[in-house]
Amino acid sequence: MNMIRRERLTSETRALANKPHSGFMFVGRPSAVGNPFVIGRDGSRSDVIGRFEQWFDSDTGLQGEFLRAARYAWKPGFGIMLLCYCHANEACHADVLVTFLKERSK
Ligand SMILES: [Zn+2]
Repeated sequence: MNMIRRERLTSETRALANKPHSGFMFVGRPSAVGNPFVIGRDGSRSDVIGRFEQWFDSDTGLQGEFLRAARYAWKPGFGIMLLCYCHANEACHADVLVTFLKERSK
């Protein structure tokens, strides 16, 4: 059963991330889909996630690049785990990316 989720980056998953069919993809900064909006400078945590969503939704080129990279890292029978620095109990821009991938894999 394939899943699409996100979790906090660890040294173990960092070593696997973005390798073909590893099942792990790094989406924090400075990756192409790292959030360019920063907590504090650009607003609260929920503000910067909202701004990321608008920015990502408006860039079909970036969406295509992200989809290709996610397919590259996708592990059959496992799916994909998106990795960011945020803790699991914090909202994260990667939640936007999880929703995007789920909508495209229906
Ligand atoms: Zn995050």
